[in-house]
Amino acid sequence: MNAILRGVRVIDPLGRLDAPGQDVWIDGGKILAIYHHIDAAGVPVVDLTPPDGVDPCVLCPGFIDLHVHLRQPGDDEAETLETGARAAAAGGFTHMVAMANTTPPIDTPERVAEARLAASNLPVSILQVAALTRGLDGEELVDIRKCVESGAVALGDDGRNSVSPRQLAIALAETAHLSRAVFVHPEDEEMIAQANGTQGSVTRSPIRPVETETRAVNLAVRALSHARSGHLHLQHLSSEGSVASLRRARHQGLAVSAEVTPHHLSMWLPVAEEPDPQALRKVNPPLRGELDRVALVQALREGLIEAVATDHAPHRAAEKSLAYDDAAPGMIGLETALATCITIGGMGGEWLATLVERLTVGPHRILGPASGVPEPRLRIGESATCTLFDPNAEWTVGETPLHSRSRNTPLIGARLRGTVLLTLAGGRVIHQDPARVPIVSEQVTSV
Ligand SMILES: [Zn+2]
Repeated sequence: MNAILRGVRVIDPLGRLDAPGQDVWIDGGKILAIYHHIDAAGVPVVDLTPPDGVDPCVLCPGFIDLHVHLRQPGDDEAETLETGARAAAAGGFTHMVAMANTTPPIDTPERVAEARLAASNLPVSILQVAALTRGLDGEELVDIRKCVESGAVALGDDGRNSVSPRQLAIALAETAHLSRAVFVHPEDEEMIAQANGTQGSVTRSPIRPVETETRAVNLAVRALSHARSGHLHLQHLSSEGSVASLRRARHQGLAVSAEVTPHHLSMWLPVAEEPDPQALRKVNPPLRGELDRVALVQALREGLIEAVATDHAPHRAAEKSLAYDDAAPGMIGLETALATCITIGGMGGEWLATLVERLTVGPHRILGPASGVPEPRLRIGESATCTLFDPNAEWTVGETPLHSRSRNTPLIGARLRGTVLLTLAGGRVIHQDPARVPIVSEQVTSV
């Protein structure tokens, strides 16, 4: 690719740059120059200058997603590493962190190494979380040190939360020496089992009162304070009460971070109609009320919650067309994350630069430098890992086929604002909108 992108807003949070009206020259996968006007003989220009009063397209570092489920190994029909990578690239993501709850789970150093090998030739960097406990059943901690040595960027039993606070404290202390966070899916399994009158697996249990989350958050924070070291990362917060607990923990100086999903920021309304089947809205933790949503948006804006993470959870249609109580929880999110946050997640308009920060620098900080993930920066002369998006362009979800192998989102048919025009990873074009950025059409790296 050799082209000048004309008239874009460049947002590079770590470089403290937020400048509209810039020309960006990308040649051979490298950013050669960012300047208010660039002309170079023979170099094609993609003119993205907006009409007066219209927000410009944004060029920023590639997005990092802390939370995806790619279903490989175990359920290739729902998603593969390849289709997941394609969906990520289309959503502007250049890095994503795969959870360990595959079949079998990634709970040994050997499986971590296998997972990394399987993901090694994809243009989107797929980073791997190792399970915290064998089989995710909360009984026996994995060999944390060896899993990290095999390449795990974090530890966590996402999907489940059956580890005891005592075990969690031990794990936090151990991961502190390895500069890795422990990711916790904060839902109290005993309370859920009680509320549903069930025993055994609670993953599909439909009744999940808000107290199941706040209690789990408080127990995890207490484990962190007992451990006296370590980094606790709270996944997919969904409620006002959890935000309050997070705030208290931070005031106490504890090393606790948190993420929020686009669906909990938006709760879908009012763009999506009641989906059919209804279970398309079923997700853990559940979509809650407007007060919760507002508290989450506020916490993300102020930086108390540092990252937007999709919790991309593909499922085969058969798993979602069961009766609501029996259906699998979760929804896909890689391709709709940006547009959901902009259109109905409270992060458009004046909050766009903040949103970029929470999709790039925030998640990178949570992973930490020891993870090996390069700093999300736009550096002159280096291979570009970046995303170009139009915050205003409207599209209808599902009108053109999604890249994910699954279609389980209640947003099918919704009209959203915000489209990704171009994604580069390590200097390679991994996604492009051929209508808006025609210049690179022949060079897209197939994924
Ligand atoms: Zn989870």
